[in-house]
Amino acid sequence: MARMVDSSTNQRVSAASRTAFVASEQRLNELAAEFERLYPNPQSELNFSNEYQLLVAVILSAQCTDKKVNQVTPKLFQKFPDFLALSKARISEIEKIIRPINYFRSKARNLKLMGQQVVQEHAACLPRSRQALESLGGVGRKTASVVLGELGIEAAFPVDTHVFRVSQRLGLAQSDKRDKVEEQLRTLIPAELWRNMHHWLILHGRRICKAQRPLCAQCSLAPLCPTAARKQ
Ligand code: SF4
Repeated sequence: MARMVDSSTNQRVSAASRTAFVASEQRLNELAAEFERLYPNPQSELNFSNEYQLLVAVILSAQCTDKKVNQVTPKLFQKFPDFLALSKARISEIEKIIRPINYFRSKARNLKLMGQQVVQEHAACLPRSRQALESLGGVGRKTASVVLGELGIEAAFPVDTHVFRVSQRLGLAQSDKRDKVEEQLRTLIPAELWRNMHHWLILHGRRICKAQRPLCAQCSLAPLCPTAARKQ
């Protein structure tokens, strides 16, 4: 069961911001409860089994579907099973394996660079601070947030295309800038719900609240959704 919002402890949420984006605390709780029913125990749809694989998969997933990433990573991880192997790889070998991925040439260069940096600067272990992660090849704020949140190192609310779109349709945020949407979501939603809400918004965006044609008639969140209400 999703943890409910407790107004007595959730000091970060101002009354003004609640009023702006969410009709009531009760609606946020109802959204979380319905998401929990739809997608219990939400997880990343990227396949990985250790921290190295997580970082590589998230780097590859920029501007690319998880499905495509999952098609290339088994071979990539078999050939280059850790940071050390990746640091020694020839870029052409990486390119050959990840060719189906968008921007495979720049991602291959970044993967090798990232491997070299982790080996030389972090004793071949995944660095655990945002600053160190963001200094690695191919790792920006969103990638670092996904890794930190997924590993439970730091509460994070990465905003990808699905989170950006679905959160706004649901009236949880409102801006044409990703960093603003992230800030609004982090302000509005209690930190203990960030990880699940991040996954819920992505899963719902992929399955129901699609970019071009949201399936509002099939969406059980419709009674809580201002976008659905406007269409009626
Ligand atoms: S009702 Fe429509 S717009 Fe609202 S969350 Fe569902 S699919 Fe998206």
